Amino acid sequence: MGLDTFAVVEKSDGSMVRAPDELFDGVLLICGVLAGSGASFRGKCYADVIEAATGVSLYTQHIPAAKVKEMAQNLSKVASVMPDCTHEGRDYDCWRCDTAHLKRWFQIAADNDFCVHGWW
Ligand SMILES: [Zn+2]
Repeated sequence: MGLDTFAVVEKSDGSMVRAPDELFDGVLLICGVLAGSGASFRGKCYADVIEAATGVSLYTQHIPAAKVKEMAQNLSKVASVMPDCTHEGRDYDCWRCDTAHLKRWFQIAADNDFCVHGWW
């Protein structure tokens, strides 16, 4: 089952639009079918890491902004006790790299009051 994950702006009139990609510059996550880099990523590749760190499944259609903030805090806790990577650069098979970049992604989403949508 594929899964793409999107950061979404919830407007005051209740409508939803995708968050701007440029806010997520420098965050390196695997892209999906419809998800590019930036405000979206291939959730399927990270669902296990996220669920282990936050207790929240990315296989959720709508994760509200308050829950996204909790997820960012929990990812930050996990990242703060991770041993440093011993390899060069970004390794897409490394859970420590994944956690560090997911932490940044969720922190940006949390700081901007974005919610997170799963699409599969
Ligand atoms: Zn690494």
